[in-house]
Amino acid sequence: MSKKNHFETEAIRTQTETSQFSEHSVPLYLTSGFVFDDAEEMRASFAEEKQRDLYSRYSNPNVNEFIEKVCKMEGAESGFAFASGMAAVFSTFATLLNAGDHVLSCSSVFGATHGLFTKYLPKWNIECSYFNINEVETIESLIQPNTKFIYAETPTNPGVDVLDLEFLSALCKKHNLLLVIDNCFATPYLQNPIKHGADLVIHSATKLMDGQGRVLGGVTVGKKELIREIYLFSRLTGPSMSAFNAWVLSKSLETLAVRVEKHCENALKIAEFLENHPKVNWVKYPFLKSHPKYEIAKKQMRLGGNIIAFEVKGGIEGGRNFFDSIKLCSLSANLGDTRTIVTHPASTTHAKVEDDVKAAVGITNGMVRISVGLEHVDDIIADLNQALN
Ligand SMILES: *Cc1c(COP(=O)(O)O)cnc(C)c1O
Repeated sequence: MSKKNHFETEAIRTQTETSQFSEHSVPLYLTSGFVFDDAEEMRASFAEEKQRDLYSRYSNPNVNEFIEKVCKMEGAESGFAFASGMAAVFSTFATLLNAGDHVLSCSSVFGATHGLFTKYLPKWNIECSYFNINEVETIESLIQPNTKFIYAETPTNPGVDVLDLEFLSALCKKHNLLLVIDNCFATPYLQNPIKHGADLVIHSATKLMDGQGRVLGGVTVGKKELIREIYLFSRLTGPSMSAFNAWVLSKSLETLAVRVEKHCENALKIAEFLENHPKVNWVKYPFLKSHPKYEIAKKQMRLGGNIIAFEVKGGIEGGRNFFDSIKLCSLSANLGDTRTIVTHPASTTHAKVEDDVKAAVGITNGMVRISVGLEHVDDIIADLNQALN
């Protein structure tokens, strides 16, 4: 197929070779191993003189298809798929980092990633420091001689701040560092960090890639030589994606564009509704003109995504009252589902975090995060409205 096809076409038409049954939809290859014709084929395959599947910890037709789709979507040379987003994050770190290295990360990262930075990487003598999303001019001064890469998520969780990918990539080039981006919130449909200079892009496929809250998955894509190292680490350590999850996720990617398009359309309408509501102090959504990084968001994202942060009047009590009044939306910590999900970080995921640390990652006591789903937007708005009132 020509490389000039559009995103949607590649998402649908990138398929594993048809079997002898001439099926139209790709079957599920639930097999741990693969067989060889003779000793020579087996030798050549293990020596990597012949490209083929050997064992599903290394590769599998369903997993290969999923990876190929994500590579096309992100404009990446190569990739490897994992059992979860965190397996992708950890395996990427474990491959790239040596004892004595330093990582510079955006302070606002997924909770489990924060756990790796603060609890596990130091155990292997790997230093991590954070830069403040609101003080990007300080990033350069935090780079050390042993810094290996800059790590960031954009938009950030849960504050929905936006980081300038071109700015970060220029800084990395200047200091000979890698740039690793967790692109989970944006999805490859909205934002392609590699086109802005990132070396590696990580996704939790569990979120909008699946989009229906069914399976876990993760993927890292980017420069061929880096992915090769990640592959060698992973084929030994075994964090690979299962064929079943790859089969589910590859089919989900066929509809990523239409789903994300609708998620974003709903989210923008809801953000505008919230911005005009008297019980709301502020709203943060990348494609609202009031977002402090609106221009950057417009430059690097196709649409604003499905996550909105806003502050209910009345602090922590106001936030809790709002939650207790929600009827339709789900109270959950997950995101990127067909179902709209509301979260109150101050009383749940960040309950034990000090106020100044929360402020640095954009969390206030009355802050609510919404992962906007695909229900009719009027019904979502009606639920939020009655809960606010
Ligand atoms: C959920 C998430 C992860 C972790 O993914 P899992 O599939 O849950 O392991 C990593 N980064 C971000 C931004 C996420 O939202």
